Amino acid sequence: MATILPQAPVQPLQPQAPVQPLEPMQPSATLQPISFPKTKANPDPSLKMKAVIFKNRKSIEVGTLHAPAITEPNDAIIRITTSAICGSDLSVYRQELQGIVTGDIMGHEAVGIVHKVGDGVKFLRPGDRVVIAANIACGLCLNCKNQNYVHCDNTNSNRKLEDDYGQRSGGVFGYSQLKGGYDGLQAEYARVPFADVNCLKVTNSPLNDERLIWLSDALPTAWYANELSEIRPGSSVAIWGAGPVGLVTAMIARYRGAAKVVCIDYVPHRLAKATQIGATSTIDPGREKVISKLKELAPLGFDACIDAAGFRIQSQLKHKVMKFMELEVSGSDFMKEAAFAARKGGIICVIGEYYQPLLSSFPIGAFMEKGLQLRGGHVSVQRYWASLLTLLETNKIDPLPLVSHILGIEKAPAAYTMFDKKRDSVVKVVLRNPAQA
Ligand SMILES: [Zn+2]
Ligand SMILES: [Zn+2]
Repeated sequence: MATILPQAPVQPLQPQAPVQPLEPMQPSATLQPISFPKTKANPDPSLKMKAVIFKNRKSIEVGTLHAPAITEPNDAIIRITTSAICGSDLSVYRQELQGIVTGDIMGHEAVGIVHKVGDGVKFLRPGDRVVIAANIACGLCLNCKNQNYVHCDNTNSNRKLEDDYGQRSGGVFGYSQLKGGYDGLQAEYARVPFADVNCLKVTNSPLNDERLIWLSDALPTAWYANELSEIRPGSSVAIWGAGPVGLVTAMIARYRGAAKVVCIDYVPHRLAKATQIGATSTIDPGREKVISKLKELAPLGFDACIDAAGFRIQSQLKHKVMKFMELEVSGSDFMKEAAFAARKGGIICVIGEYYQPLLSSFPIGAFMEKGLQLRGGHVSVQRYWASLLTLLETNKIDPLPLVSHILGIEKAPAAYTMFDKKRDSVVKVVLRNPAQA
């Protein structure tokens, strides 16, 4: 018999950042004047840098620009030592997001050394080694005070998301006008607004950049997926997408004691990697029927189904036709398969990207009849990264085996092509900047 989720008192998961309930909105909070930082950094005329620059759809180049200068008092300028390419950078590369402009600097994952700080920065000094968070938070607004940093009210001056969804999310580095239009981190220097909040000091960490870089986004995202999915000893979880985030999500699920971890992906070398890092089973939808295989693996259903793949999955003919006719961008394979595969009362968790507001084939009947719960969203990196640093430093989790390529920043165009086409057994690509005296 399959083991059902233990009903015994739930053991607190270690380490767990304190989760505070969202305080009721105070009327005064909604009336506070919002002041966005200047999005585009002033150039530093005395310093040039290399940067990975968006040209056109599927075309990027490594160009030379002026480095950014301190533009707001809370800014720090970071000399980036290492950056990384994330699965969601491909959405920028493929121009799948609105508001990607020629000349934008790519990337939102980086480690570096503080070069300069503005007058308002309290906790950082030149020479400090830091990890930079993918999401930009002010640390002052009600959402930031409740540790919902990704929903910061003060860092995204673009109102498109507010028009679509009622409220807008916070800013993100290198991620289109939709997320504020900030320059990205795949460069030799970057400007970090509200630097005290958005830099994690790692000066004394013995870890190399290739391990620390996971704290910028992928590792907190994976932890958040596990939190939302309530993964605990004995849990069963199926994960769609075995890219870097899906794989590190599987790794953390195993660390948290999940008994059954199934990874689903079309790319054989990714599935091999999933097995290597502890997945108990893998499914290639090109060779097996996902629903029947999942039913065979967990007849009572999975405690959690996690989408780490996003809107691109669409094997059904109907969706291919709708995409072709530009009626719908997002595929519904995940939602349909997950609603079937989840146990009664199970959790469906979406951490993959969905940019379009609507999905026409939402399996609402299963939610009603099986009592499913839908959770998801972007992670607030700053909520988890200090605890996760401890996990890395104590070697409880080591994502280094997922780094398949370490390349110089000048190789970025070839690296993007390789990652986009999933060639050369690519999993995670890390870009190094030349060492400086
Ligand atoms: Zn990322
Ligand atoms: Zn804020």
